[in-house]
Amino acid sequence: EAKLDLVKKHIKPYPDFPSKGILFRDICPILKDPAALTAVIDLFEEHVRQMQPQVELIVGLDARGFLFGPLLAQRLGVGFVLIRKKGKLPGPTVSVAYTLEYGQAEVEMQEDAVAPGQKVLLIDDLLATGGTLWAACELLKKNKAEVLGCMVVIELKDLHGSERVESTVFSLVQY
Ligand code: IMP
Repeated sequence: EAKLDLVKKHIKPYPDFPSKGILFRDICPILKDPAALTAVIDLFEEHVRQMQPQVELIVGLDARGFLFGPLLAQRLGVGFVLIRKKGKLPGPTVSVAYTLEYGQAEVEMQEDAVAPGQKVLLIDDLLATGGTLWAACELLKKNKAEVLGCMVVIELKDLHGSERVESTVFSLVQY
């Protein structure tokens, strides 16, 4: 499809970033090109509109989930909520720790961000090992939200992240 080709053309690979042996996939060129950004949101919107039950809230992940999430939420006429790295959100928060390749990380959301039973969709730029989306799902479970699925621009298939995430993952581009 033409839209998908446009998206693929605007993903730039950077060898050895942030460390040797890692091939970093950069979505910045998508944001710089209005047609490519529109294509991403169009493709996300198409997918969400055919989901049953219907999505009631978009939840985005720190930091690049924040670039796509609000645009999609506005298209759908639903709200947007942030999951952030620890220590960034004011007021009472709930957090979940998870393991990275080296060390630990923690994600957090405001206690009153989601209503019990609310049907949410998670969004981020890229799925690698799945640790981040796994933690985000745990966080939403703690807050009694219903996670309908996760959506990313890019999925790195070799890392089997979708097996770690306990929810369906929809991706536009796979490597
Ligand atoms: P995971 O937790 O291993 O699935 O890593 C996913 C998180 O790391 C996402 O929030 C991504 O933004 C970030 N990330 C990992 N690898 C890349 C990459 O190659 N390009 C852009 N972001 C990446």
